[in-house]
Amino acid sequence: MGAGAMGSLFGGLLSSSGQEVWLVDVWKEHIDAIRSKGLAIEKKGITQNFSINATTDVHSIGKADLVLYFVKTYHMEKAVTDSLALEKEDTLFLTLQNGLGNEEVICQQVDRKKVILGVTGQGATLLGPGQIRHAGWGKTYVGELVGKITDRVNRVAQIFQKAGIETEVSARIHDLVWEKLLVNVGLNALAAITGLKNGQILDHPETLRLLESLVSEAVEVAKKKSVQVQGNPIDRVKAVIEATRENRCSMGQDLDRKRRTEIDAINGALVREAERLGIPVPYNRMITDLIKVIEKTF
Ligand code: NAD
Repeated sequence: MGAGAMGSLFGGLLSSSGQEVWLVDVWKEHIDAIRSKGLAIEKKGITQNFSINATTDVHSIGKADLVLYFVKTYHMEKAVTDSLALEKEDTLFLTLQNGLGNEEVICQQVDRKKVILGVTGQGATLLGPGQIRHAGWGKTYVGELVGKITDRVNRVAQIFQKAGIETEVSARIHDLVWEKLLVNVGLNALAAITGLKNGQILDHPETLRLLESLVSEAVEVAKKKSVQVQGNPIDRVKAVIEATRENRCSMGQDLDRKRRTEIDAINGALVREAERLGIPVPYNRMITDLIKVIEKTF
């Protein structure tokens, strides 16, 4: 559900490993291009073409064993509603999106026993209708909401592995979602507003201080929620930013193109959690408000 950059990447790889995959998207031009010319995935300058089922009509597919969501977080409610057409008794519903609370949006419409959660270090960029770039290849983790290791998550991990998507099962998947959230909380809105590339955030004392404040607030909230934050989180966030020094983060690309961002699922979600727990997070509140005001000018 959502066959933009990431949905097309996972769909293309899974399909080429022999799985029956359907890409579902509301963007007709993109789906038409995939149906007529195939899906082109560029990786390190080499483009491969993948033949794959694609549709704008979720009702035309039948039932699915696994539903994977890759819409932007603000389109989740509608995508979950649409995806109910795919549900059978043992369908699994998985989100690998960024941000907090995507699994809870699924659980509002789907029995939570059928919902599993993950996080991915894979990265992709949409180039145009029917064309994406595979731009990052970190590990993917999947796990049960209740934290145990089950046959069904092992099977999902095996299927991803077979498709060349390096995947591990985790009994602490919520902690891993938070680990990625800390990076997104510290980097995305700050880079978006300043117009900087990732690495440049580390080059100025001002942005470095802001980054540390944003992440420190998030760590306080994480600890209060009993999230196991391992090692020094600020150092880890900086290491991730250094490793992606030349990138313009996705929220930055969204602001550059005057498109809505995923702020509500990142710093905004952190502010909501903090409010619930009575923890002051002024830096995150301010940066959320700034992004929201910029979005209103589009
Ligand atoms: P994208 O904008 O490229 O793709 C989203 C797609 O969802 C679009 O093609 C849109 O038309 C489609 N869509 C919207 N509503 C729909 C609906 N109801 N049914 C079906 N399709 C619908 O976004 P993306 O970059 O692929 O990101 C998707 C998610 O993955 C985001 O939450 C993002 O944070 C996360 N993510 C992205 C990356 C990355 O490198 N791009 C990496 C990790 C995680």
